[in-house]
Amino acid sequence: MKRANTFDVVPQSDEDEGLLRRLLDASAALWNEINYERREHYADPDGDVWEISEYRGRYGGVLGASTVQQIERKNREAWKSFFSLRKKGEANGKPGFWGNAEEGRELRTYIRNTSYSVEWGEYSRLEILVGKDLKDEYELGHRERLRLEVRGDPNWEEYDKQGRLELFYDEQAQSFRAFQPVTIGEDHSRLAHPLASEEAALDIGANNLVACTTTTGQQYLYEGRELFERFRETTREIARLQSLLEEGRYSSHRIQRLYDRRTKRRDHAQDALARDLIERLYDEGVSTVYVGALTNVLETHWSVETNAKTHNFWAFRAFVNRLACTAEEYGISVEVRSEAWTSQECPNCGSTEDTTRHRDTLTCPCGFEGHADLVASETFLRRHQNSPSSGWRTRREASRQRQTTVTRSMARPVCLKWDNHDWLESSRSPRPNEEHTNPQVASVGR
Ligand SMILES: [Zn+2]
Repeated sequence: MKRANTFDVVPQSDEDEGLLRRLLDASAALWNEINYERREHYADPDGDVWEISEYRGRYGGVLGASTVQQIERKNREAWKSFFSLRKKGEANGKPGFWGNAEEGRELRTYIRNTSYSVEWGEYSRLEILVGKDLKDEYELGHRERLRLEVRGDPNWEEYDKQGRLELFYDEQAQSFRAFQPVTIGEDHSRLAHPLASEEAALDIGANNLVACTTTTGQQYLYEGRELFERFRETTREIARLQSLLEEGRYSSHRIQRLYDRRTKRRDHAQDALARDLIERLYDEGVSTVYVGALTNVLETHWSVETNAKTHNFWAFRAFVNRLACTAEEYGISVEVRSEAWTSQECPNCGSTEDTTRHRDTLTCPCGFEGHADLVASETFLRRHQNSPSSGWRTRREASRQRQTTVTRSMARPVCLKWDNHDWLESSRSPRPNEEHTNPQVASVGR
């Protein structure tokens, strides 16, 4: 089983930080040179992208031979994936550069699995190989490695094999980060088991990335307005730059950078969301999570254009995979189910025709008023709860179940905001569903 650890890397002195920056910057310079050469060969009808110069001579002294080899390999992988995507008609540009010398390079490197070690304990640390020239310059011993402090909670302290380490400077978090893939044998896996067999349902959107209701009566709302706005801004900027391109050109360095940044930003937020949510659900004793198939929800009240953008933003399948991978660590299963109508259904009287949605609020002539996305996740949960095989039920069945299922009362929703690093509980929670406080509704009963 493949798993990954992510952690912060903290240099303990200015010298160490200087050395680390030199190492990452030289790696980016090497990547850019290799990539430039490949792009030249690609543009040349007689060129062969797989033929590249020998770089060890110039970069080995700083990076060490094994890191030169890792960067070459990583770049080759990027081009392989470009060609295979192009075959499927999905490629959106040749592999990009890691910044440039003028505007600053992206600080990043890849270290071979045998060229680093991580130790977790009271003083957790990472030791990485650096080239001979850097050792001389920073007065490291001949056999010494650069030692850095690491902070964070590894998901996997014990593993059978460690993979190539990715080490980079995270501009948004203003810190060095490491991504360490590891392989865990079945017998060593410490997969958690769900604490109970509660269930949860997710409603996925753009303004609110995820609205979630659990059978324990918890509700979570992950705010996405700002993230989505930034995504749209970058998308507009890409379109503007594309319209300025000379005829016959499809992309540029800047456009590629924007694509990359847009993707990284989203992936970062999605990864963190999946982990934050699954950990909360695990604590609630959830064993099954229902995720609505996105198309149905969007078609009902969103324009085609917004639909396309949301799809693009969410990379829905990728997000569900991410969620499923994280859930697997906790023994939680993720099931994609039809979500038709749930976003318009009144949880009180079952009407779908008479309800109206204005911004985040769903109102019904019967007197119900509540947060639309949270209500949708609640309705969706009720529809699939304890019925793993039904998938779809008729309105009448749904309405009968509504009358017979004892729904525990909902706690005040937990509202989470992205601060570019973590999802933090926001003090400004949405109003809980009015059904518990609105006397008019209370008199209708369930
Ligand atoms: Zn109603």
